Amino acid sequence: MATDYDAPRKTDEDAEQDSIQELQARRSDKSSGVVDEDETEAAEGFELPGADLSGEELAVRVLPRQADEFTCTSCFLVHHRSQLAYEKNGQMICTECAA
Ligand SMILES: [Zn+2]
Repeated sequence: MATDYDAPRKTDEDAEQDSIQELQARRSDKSSGVVDEDETEAAEGFELPGADLSGEELAVRVLPRQADEFTCTSCFLVHHRSQLAYEKNGQMICTECAA
């Protein structure tokens, strides 16, 4: 009985350790893959110093329009207030479209 009782316990511990080791192995595999992608993206980012990754994230994410920004009703781009040429009948025109 004692061996029967011990056997499953030991198996459970082994299984747990195995799964943990497996997880860690997978995790390190994944992270190494991610690092490779990051290095690739970083290398691409260095070619374009003006476009950093944080700015790219902002562009991809749909952010609510900021209070000091407006959407041009002509080109539908979001501009800063300073680029508002004029507002007519609730339509806001940026300086680029007004030019
Ligand atoms: Zn415009």
